[in-house]
Amino acid sequence: MASLTKRRSENVPGNFYVDSSCIDCETCRILAPEVFSEKGGASYVRNQPSNSEESFRALQALVSCPTTSIGTMERDDLTSAKDSFPARIHGNVYHCGYHSKSSFGAFSYLILRPEGNVLVDSPRYVPSLAEKIRSLGGIRYHYLTHRDDVADHGKFHEDFGCERIIHEDDADAVGNPEITIAGRDPFRLAEDLTIFPTPGHTKGHTVLLYSNAFLFTGDHLAYDPVRKRLIAFRGVCWYSWEEQKSSMESLAGLSFEWVLPGHGNPFHGTPEETSHLLRKCIDWM
Ligand code: SF4
Repeated sequence: MASLTKRRSENVPGNFYVDSSCIDCETCRILAPEVFSEKGGASYVRNQPSNSEESFRALQALVSCPTTSIGTMERDDLTSAKDSFPARIHGNVYHCGYHSKSSFGAFSYLILRPEGNVLVDSPRYVPSLAEKIRSLGGIRYHYLTHRDDVADHGKFHEDFGCERIIHEDDADAVGNPEITIAGRDPFRLAEDLTIFPTPGHTKGHTVLLYSNAFLFTGDHLAYDPVRKRLIAFRGVCWYSWEEQKSSMESLAGLSFEWVLPGHGNPFHGTPEETSHLLRKCIDWM
């Protein structure tokens, strides 16, 4: 729970504030950029919400903050914000909210499919979220992009009996996954789901292409809204930047419209736009 005694001095006066426990995961700034900003390696409230829509997004950020670093002076009702997760992004793809501190606040996603739902990376295991996911059809596969973002995989496995999928080079982070991916070849999980090994950020990093439209990129690829380009994070490339460059090149022939990362901003464009931006990212790398 956020603490008023730890309230950051950078916050503008008003209802919402961020305290000094913020780990700078960026979640609040992506969910409610009109309210939250960054200064000195942590988030703060730049502007108080000016309408009900902004207030709602700020409350979604409060619910999603992995360290409960966001607080309100008033006693706000969180029911609607909690109930909004999983929140629809587009079609049958959802953002789970409830980011986990153990994955440094990474985004996680839920794909609803008649053949079985897929949880992409892991939110915090919260009983009310699990019940919502159950009401949406549960979880058949729990796909994990890489070792850093596995969070509460064990609890979701215990609850839903889902099959956990991760590359063998990162599999020790899960212990005993039900499905492991080996080598560098694409892994066809189903007609609409293909996993591409993308070593670089970690040795066993992979990305998931769903329906030739959504690319779930973990910590491999994200969007920079300021410079309006797709980016990779060299400063947090734990395994090999050279390998990450090769991995990025291996994605160049794919067609997709959405980039949905674990960390960093998402992107939506036409297949031509994503292809162009990916090419520019490879050139930059
Ligand atoms: S979501 Fe929480 S931890 Fe993440 S940047 Fe915002 S205040 Fe900090």
